[in-house]
Amino acid sequence: MPTLVTCPECHERFDSEDEAADQRCPKCAHVFQSKPRAPYTEGIQAKSAPAGPVAKATTPAWDEEDDKPLGRPPTPRAPFPWTALLILLLGLLFFALVFSAGFNIWFLMRPDNDFFRGNAIRVQEQQAIERQRQAEMAAEQARQAQQAQQEEARRLEVALERERERVRQLEQQLKK
Ligand SMILES: [Zn+2]
Repeated sequence: MPTLVTCPECHERFDSEDEAADQRCPKCAHVFQSKPRAPYTEGIQAKSAPAGPVAKATTPAWDEEDDKPLGRPPTPRAPFPWTALLILLLGLLFFALVFSAGFNIWFLMRPDNDFFRGNAIRVQEQQAIERQRQAEMAAEQARQAQQAQQEEARRLEVALERERERVRQLEQQLKK
């Protein structure tokens, strides 16, 4: 019973009487075996079975297209774990944020806070300055009042002197 086989070199298709025998391509004269691939695959898989299920899964020893042995397949390179790196960075950022916020709260809330104590001292200083200014103003007002009193006293003295002068003139008129 003729079977349709395909040349792995030129992909020419032709009928073969004996599928188990070596096949010679009528187009490119390539000699190959057209036996079903199952025995090959099973043999390879049996050999590579001790390497483990991962090696078995990622090791196609034969190319499905043209039945050529591939040799050692390239070791699959694991993709760079960007996601893990991103999660790690975000975690670090979050930790730094929490730490800095906590530090700020502790710094502002501790009882001997220089910041608030400095403010309190400044307020007290301003109040003292204000009190001193008011005291100076009061002293100035007192000085002005004293000056006014002295001036009033001088004015009264002058008036008194003028009255005495008039009394003296009246006494002289009476003597005449
Ligand atoms: Zn051929």
